[in-house]
Amino acid sequence: MTQPLQNILNAKPISVSAATPIIEVLSIMEQQHISCVLAVDAEDKPVGIFTEQDVVALMASAENLSGVPMAAVMHAPVFTLPADMDYRDAYRLMSARGYRHLAVVDALGRLTGIVSEGDFLHHLGMDYLVELKTVASAMDRSPLTLPEQANLADAAALLAERHASCLLVTRDQEPIGILTERDLVHLARLNLDQAKTMLVDVMHAPVIGIGAETSLQSAIRQMEQAGIRRLAVLDGRRLVGLVTRHDIVRMLQGRFVEYLHETIERQRLDLERIQRQDAQLQLQVHALNAAGNAIVITDAEPRILWANAAFSTLTGYGVQEAIGRKPSELVASGKQDQAFYQNLWQTILAGDIWRGELINKRKDGRLYDEELTITPVRLGRDGQEITHFIAVKQDISERKAVERRLQASEAHFRLFYEHAPVAYQSLDAAGNLLEVNDEWLRQFGYAHDAVIGRHIGEFLAPGQEVLLKTRFESFLRDSVLRKTEFDFLHRDGGIVTVAVDGLVDRDEQGHFQRTQCVLHNITARKQIEQELRYLATTDALTGLANRRHFLDQMRLALARHQRHGTPTALLMIDLDWFKRVNDQYGHAVGDEVLQHCARTIASRLRRNDLLGRLGGEEFAILMPDTDVEGAREFAERVRQLAAGNPASTRTGEILVTLSIGVTCFQERDQNIDGILARSDQALYRAKHNGRNRVELEPPPSS
Ligand code: GH3
Ligand code: MG
Ligand code: MG
Repeated sequence: MTQPLQNILNAKPISVSAATPIIEVLSIMEQQHISCVLAVDAEDKPVGIFTEQDVVALMASAENLSGVPMAAVMHAPVFTLPADMDYRDAYRLMSARGYRHLAVVDALGRLTGIVSEGDFLHHLGMDYLVELKTVASAMDRSPLTLPEQANLADAAALLAERHASCLLVTRDQEPIGILTERDLVHLARLNLDQAKTMLVDVMHAPVIGIGAETSLQSAIRQMEQAGIRRLAVLDGRRLVGLVTRHDIVRMLQGRFVEYLHETIERQRLDLERIQRQDAQLQLQVHALNAAGNAIVITDAEPRILWANAAFSTLTGYGVQEAIGRKPSELVASGKQDQAFYQNLWQTILAGDIWRGELINKRKDGRLYDEELTITPVRLGRDGQEITHFIAVKQDISERKAVERRLQASEAHFRLFYEHAPVAYQSLDAAGNLLEVNDEWLRQFGYAHDAVIGRHIGEFLAPGQEVLLKTRFESFLRDSVLRKTEFDFLHRDGGIVTVAVDGLVDRDEQGHFQRTQCVLHNITARKQIEQELRYLATTDALTGLANRRHFLDQMRLALARHQRHGTPTALLMIDLDWFKRVNDQYGHAVGDEVLQHCARTIASRLRRNDLLGRLGGEEFAILMPDTDVEGAREFAERVRQLAAGNPASTRTGEILVTLSIGVTCFQERDQNIDGILARSDQALYRAKHNGRNRVELEPPPSS
């Protein structure tokens, strides 16, 4: 702790202007019993100092003092220290310079006080002196002495020469009087004839003496009682030394300063430690108060000793209101039974941490869900006994409400799940069935026990192993499966086509839990689709590809041809003189002949060839991987086959020949129109050249 100088200052110091005559200054010193006077300027700033020691020097010089101003004899500049400096530091600085007085100034440099060695001695405390035993350790063993015949001039000269503050007047080694610099202040003012003034007439007598083995403490006490600063040290009546307050202080100084330093350092460290601890403690308290969770500290009883701000928010009780009460008095809701609390107490009294959820009551009566952790603490001396409990409480009302809603909706969902008109299934990561609902079992014709734990693949129609593997992998990767079709095998052997939509359940860490899938039975739709597709692409009379489907396939073939350059041929076939058949036998027989021709042509097709009915009695064949020569040969075979193979109809055999135009896809073909046009040209030429023939476009060059 700092002790500023201003704390040990005496009343307003006596100061004069530097122009004040020194005689007047001496009179002030004498009357006020002060050992120094300061001169200050108009702003009260010290400009010089005049002390008893200076008086000695003045007297020794034997100058006439009348008319001499303070300014001529004072010391300048003055040693000053600021009033807020620690007085122990100030004492060190002062004594290091050998000064006995110190001018103390305020922040503006104005004189606020004078501190003398005596003031320090007072404030530094006497306790340390006890340690130093005797006067002998501090005394001056050869004090200045003059015989009783000496005069004042001798005394002044000796004191000045030796820079001493007093001398003893002796008779046969026995001190009979003492003359101090303070006496000289008085004598100087009288302007006596020093040479004619005998010491015995101006000295103080008798001399106050003390034994060398007396304690320093009692020496100081004696000085204070007598109002003096020096004691003669006597052996019997013989003078053996002089002990002055100044000497004692100086002698102690080394020891004292050392002690002081230690003390100050210790105090500083203590202070810092306390401040650090205090700061840390405050931080911790701040942290606890800032915590979102309510924190309560109780004693063992348990009565609340401390609670943070969140406790008030949670319970509605003010912290001050809560302190001294038992938590149960405040928040018990009656919603937990006896056994619950028994378990709690058993746990914490055994020294274990208790964790749990409970329903508590706020001050306003509302109930709330709380997650509570109670930690027992042993702060007793033996560390055995539980002295405190720390409870951390968290409001989990919201979470509980969500949980309750979730539970309710889960129950609803389960009900819906079990009885939904849609099949559900749940798989583990390996594809084994974890769960299916009633509709699933009904749809595929199985009993529950025959399904759970089996691999889903066992329930699929054959040939879908790769499909299942790839789709399941991407499902697990993407966590979602959309409208993916699988053919299941009903227990009775029928195919059940389903579209599967699914999600993957994962926990918070993203770990796979299970799949959840809905299976829509699309078997009927699939059949209708198939029929529609057949109808849309097939000619009803012959069962061949219809015109639209054939042209679609031609476009695809052209795209392939353009990409890969594979040779592709197109044959255009028209029945010869067909009108006559109709005319002669009727339309129905005509149809029979049409069907017969279709079969005849189809019988020669390779697997990848496509035969279509483009119009009434016009057919076309699309032949991939076939060059013009191959196509021509094929056309010729078909022509011959038809020409030698009459249709047997209800009215007998009817022979119809074929005219065939052949062309090949060309590099410059941008669309199928040009190809169709070329085949038409070839066909036209076949008709023109007599029918029952094959013609090429472009025609062979030879
Ligand atoms: P050409 O040798 O010049 O081809 O003589 P054509 O009589 O066959 O003449 P064209 O090819 O122009 O005749 C088409 C005839 O085919 C007209 C129609 O009577 C007959 N026809 C078209 N579609 C059908 C059908 O679906 N059923 C039946 N029975 N006849 C059809
Ligand atoms: Mg025709
Ligand atoms: Mg025809």
